[in-house]
Amino acid sequence: MRGASPHYSAWSLLRARIKGHGYWQPLWTGHKLQEAYDVVIVGAGGHGLATAFHLARDHGIKRIAILEKRLVGYGNVGRNTTIVRSNYLLPENHYFYEDSLRRWATLSRDLNYNVMYSPRGVLDLALSEDEMSKAARRGNAMRLAGIDAELLDRAALKRYCPELDTQRARRFPIVGALLQRRGGTVRHDAVAWGYARAASALGVDIIEDCEVTGVRSTAGMASGVETTRGYVEAERIVFATAGHTAMIGSMLGVPLPIETHLLQAMVTEPIKPLLNTVLVYVYPGHGETYICQSDRGGLVMGGMLDGFPSYTREGRWDRMEDVVEGAVDLLPHIAGCKILRHWAGTNDMTMDGSPIMDRLRYDNVFVNAGWCYGGFKAIPASGAAFATFVATGSAPDLIKAYRLSRFTTGHLLDERGGGPFPVRL
Ligand SMILES: Cc1cc2nc3c(=O)[nH]c(=O)nc-3n(C[C@H](O)[C@H](O)[C@H](O)COP(=O)(O)OP(=O)(O)OC[C@H]3O[C@@H](n4cnc5c(N)ncnc54)[C@H](O)[C@@H]3O)c2cc1C
Repeated sequence: MRGASPHYSAWSLLRARIKGHGYWQPLWTGHKLQEAYDVVIVGAGGHGLATAFHLARDHGIKRIAILEKRLVGYGNVGRNTTIVRSNYLLPENHYFYEDSLRRWATLSRDLNYNVMYSPRGVLDLALSEDEMSKAARRGNAMRLAGIDAELLDRAALKRYCPELDTQRARRFPIVGALLQRRGGTVRHDAVAWGYARAASALGVDIIEDCEVTGVRSTAGMASGVETTRGYVEAERIVFATAGHTAMIGSMLGVPLPIETHLLQAMVTEPIKPLLNTVLVYVYPGHGETYICQSDRGGLVMGGMLDGFPSYTREGRWDRMEDVVEGAVDLLPHIAGCKILRHWAGTNDMTMDGSPIMDRLRYDNVFVNAGWCYGGFKAIPASGAAFATFVATGSAPDLIKAYRLSRFTTGHLLDERGGGPFPVRL
């Protein structure tokens, strides 16, 4: 890694251990809130941070602030199950997510920070011949767009993922899977830290503990934001507030077609390397389980939304039970593992499962939202494209389909198999 990488002697490490971690270089600190900015970005999640980074690096915008009501990475960017892929059916989605997947592959180099992209493959399991033909359709659409996809029968699936119990008699037997080999996982905290550090190095002010509570306007344009630390003038304002976006809509007097729902995840105690891929399993009558193994050895698992709107970050036990049941069904030998941690995040659900990247009420206010339960994988593409939109005023082709007006014109991007119900993350 470039930059300060001091040599630590045994003595300096011992001294640091006694005194605390004083030898660590802070990734971003010391930023003071200024009175005025060219761009104010609300929300230091993945999308806000990535947008700031690209505005500064690609468009040379100098005075940028990110205002975050809690801490960098406190939101969903640090709560997700880290899965990245581009196995979407609709062209509007698969080209966009493919752009993101390509960027994941080079992001560590771009940020000079290891985000631990691990292309270990994502397997969507098929439980009937009907599901196999749907998987084939999705795979064919992807391949026509130049995206890798492979249809595996049961024998090929067993070869790819030997730990998976494909043979056991089940009411809904596993008959095969759609594999995207370049799909996989990325360390989510590292994504937040890497973008924050890179943006900070480019001069972006990252202000934590600063909630935006209102927008002021003059002559039909927004002029700045009210915050818990006072008023800040802004030429352009970007909202990237994920699960809180419906509140931002209310703040601006524009009702948004977004509901906030909870999604839970959990991780087991660390075990030896067991699972070499990401398994996605939607089983009738119960729900969904997706499972992968972290580099530390924990099995990271998630499932469906809790199914009712909420802003609390506490999940229901029955949803956890569904997830665990699915995981043990796939990998019976993990039945004795202990769940170490469990958490939830607030997802900004749109009715078609696709995001919103548009202006909001004023020409100089932009909203980046509606990522549902799949917005982590979108961060690199979203940051680059949205920054272009904000800097130039014109939305790049890659994100044109994500405009808000589709909910009034009816041109929804309802990704079957990737849309809200049933979910496939
Ligand atoms: C359990 C779970 C598992 C998931 N798994 C995956 C997955 O495997 N793959 C995938 O692609 N996606 C996944 N997701 C979805 C993904 O995490 C989100 O879609 C994405 O992180 C949302 O974008 P963000 O990172 O910008 O949001 P966030 O990190 O939530 O950032 C929004 C920020 O805005 C701040 N904010 C809100 N209001 C204000 C205000 N008024 N003023 C100032 N700041 C404000 C918040 O504090 C927050 O930090 C998952 C989500 C959850 C909850």
